Amino acid sequence: MKKTIIVFLVVAVALSFVACGGKSDGAGGGLPSIGVTIYKFDDTFMSYTRNAIQSNATGKATLEVVDSQNSQPMQNDQVDAFLSKKVNSMAINSVDRTAAASIIEKAKAKNTPVVFFNREPLPEDMASWDKIYYVGAKAEQSGTMEGEIAAEWWLENKGKDQVLRYVMLRGEPGHQDAELRREFSIKAVTDAGIQVECLAEDYANWDRPKAVEKMDAWLAQFGDRIDMVFANNDDMALGAIESLKNAGYFQGGKFMPVLGVDATPPALLALEEGTLLGTVLNDANNQGKATFDIAYALAKGEDPSTAGWTITDGKYIWVPYQKVTKDNFRQFQQ
Ligand code: BGC
Repeated sequence: MKKTIIVFLVVAVALSFVACGGKSDGAGGGLPSIGVTIYKFDDTFMSYTRNAIQSNATGKATLEVVDSQNSQPMQNDQVDAFLSKKVNSMAINSVDRTAAASIIEKAKAKNTPVVFFNREPLPEDMASWDKIYYVGAKAEQSGTMEGEIAAEWWLENKGKDQVLRYVMLRGEPGHQDAELRREFSIKAVTDAGIQVECLAEDYANWDRPKAVEKMDAWLAQFGDRIDMVFANNDDMALGAIESLKNAGYFQGGKFMPVLGVDATPPALLALEEGTLLGTVLNDANNQGKATFDIAYALAKGEDPSTAGWTITDGKYIWVPYQKVTKDNFRQFQQ
């Protein structure tokens, strides 16, 4: 009888592991589970951040990483599914950063901590619960650095007396990085004493093919009147370069200064080939690592301040940007 009970218990325990698919239910002895959403997998920068989150989790936590396909309703359903599976914490790259409020409400009801990353929730939402964190980079810093690279080149090549006429490829409406990079890049140029004229600016949604289309249209409209191209990220800068190449730039001495942000590997290649004037490192590796480390500490019920990152105002982990030009790009190539 005793033996039968023991055999039964062993089988029952084994089956319960199979049923959980090896996932921790938070109470068992398995790895902690973390639900991760990415606003869309088809975003170059986010794919590097996602890889960093995943590689840091190896052997430590069970991750479920889902693609929200740029749809907030889809992401809301994914969050509901994570909560009903009782993940131990969540790492959320919101589609719409103003949707954080309803995600926080649901997470709070289930006492499931959340790390938001890359898309910064509004301050009032961040303040609404003590188990939410944000990992990102100071958007205005990247704008300032982009503008400083531009100003330095302009002063060296054209001087203060010429008005700089530019076009600007913007990220996406409402994204803190798009709005602040736009503002602070130009502020750095005017702070250097250079007069500017904006010929055109438009959203290309961080996307290379859309940036090619916009740049084609601006070249048709303004031609050689364009002195400089600012892009809120590297994918759009590379789109602009593609369009400029088709229009005969970067050959026979015809140059156009193009600036981006991210320092993705293809952008570093463009720096090497001399088509991209400058970019700013948006450190996907460290943002991914910090996102994982904080979500992991929270999943284990530990204090995130022990995770090895400086936490500002009790909630924010800021990963610094760095200027990248032809003088230092090699140190960022992996
Ligand atoms: C990056 C962009 C990316 C966006 C996604 C920004 O920080 O610079 O390349 O598309 O985040 O949210």
